[in-house]
Amino acid sequence: MEQETRKSLSDEYEVTEVLGRGGFSVVRKGIQKCSEGNTSVAIKTLRRFGPLTPSPGSRKSKNSNRALISDALLTNELLVMRKIVEDVSPHPNVIHLRDVCEDNGGVHLILELCSGGELFDRIVAQAKYNESEAAAVVRQIAKGLAALHRANIVHRDLKPENCLFLNKDENSPLKIMDFGLSSVDDFTDPVVGLFGSIDYVSPEALSRGKITHKSDIWSLGVILYILLSGYPPFIAQSTQQKQQMILNGQFSFYEKTWKIISSSVKHLITSLLKVDPDMRPSAEEILRHPWVTGDLAKQDQMDAEIVSRLQSFNARRKFRAAAMASVLSSSFSLRTKKLKNLVGSYDLKPEELENLRINFKKICKNGDNATLSEFEE
Ligand code: ATP
Repeated sequence: MEQETRKSLSDEYEVTEVLGRGGFSVVRKGIQKCSEGNTSVAIKTLRRFGPLTPSPGSRKSKNSNRALISDALLTNELLVMRKIVEDVSPHPNVIHLRDVCEDNGGVHLILELCSGGELFDRIVAQAKYNESEAAAVVRQIAKGLAALHRANIVHRDLKPENCLFLNKDENSPLKIMDFGLSSVDDFTDPVVGLFGSIDYVSPEALSRGKITHKSDIWSLGVILYILLSGYPPFIAQSTQQKQQMILNGQFSFYEKTWKIISSSVKHLITSLLKVDPDMRPSAEEILRHPWVTGDLAKQDQMDAEIVSRLQSFNARRKFRAAAMASVLSSSFSLRTKKLKNLVGSYDLKPEELENLRINFKKICKNGDNATLSEFEE
């Protein structure tokens, strides 16, 4: 990566369609202007929402929280990505930062383009799916985690939507990405809790205990449970109940779904989801597990019901994420506590769902033609 960070985006790249949106970012496709083969990249723009410290005597702006969070996320992501460049890259399972540009629109991270889609999207789309394929996914994530953990980087936000395939090839590498929360220590602002579902969060993160590389291992345990059943290990009527289940490590392998799944992977999941982080295996140990190496993973086609459950789980998750991105990137006043509970919960009331739909439609309407000015309020 080049050291110069003050390069303007438009000088270097032709920016094309929107690839995705997060709470404080927009990711667009770009083509490097001076590259020989017209290299395509992903441009993640992290927008600054204003000065961190209001000028003396000025009233606390309603955007000050937002500025605080966006700035912390931005600084953090930049820091972690630079450490990845120094200590991890190139690695087949960790996203690579190619360059950084900065202008009035914000800071633009120039990332390698992942055009192969999200982890669950690919799994639900493929005709053949078995334990062996799930083991291959775990191998890739564990390899990426092992490299990150060796460099003392804890991802802290590992979830399926942060795992993208590099390309559409059958054997495409799977890349771990989105390091926005990776080392923000003790980030207690409640708005941060809005970023996503608590499904993948470890008990120590929930109880504001010490986060270590073992917290990522818990998240991998949750991903693996979903990969083999189509539903998450901790399901409850309310977010509060779910939190309690996570804190107690209270989950089961329901007979109907799990009786056909290899006992060796059930043991593995049980070890990944240990409440005591020290009892969880490291990423390196996971890579040596006989189910993960493929030796004990079954080759039989997975039950159709599991795949169809995974499909609806995925659709629901995407809807929630899109609604959340729309809320976070549009009106600040919509971010009420109620909305937080609403989106964090699986049980949406019809009128609540309708509100989210309206928001969702808003971003779809702006959709692919969105520009930076649309991203700014
Ligand atoms: P969140 O608020 O969910 O944490 P974020 O602001 O950190 O999100 P990302 O998750 O990094 O943003 O990116 C948002 C979306 O943009 C992703 O879900 C993905 O669809 C797309 N995206 C991000 N990076 C890439 C990439 N390198 N190649 C292709 N698409 C990408």
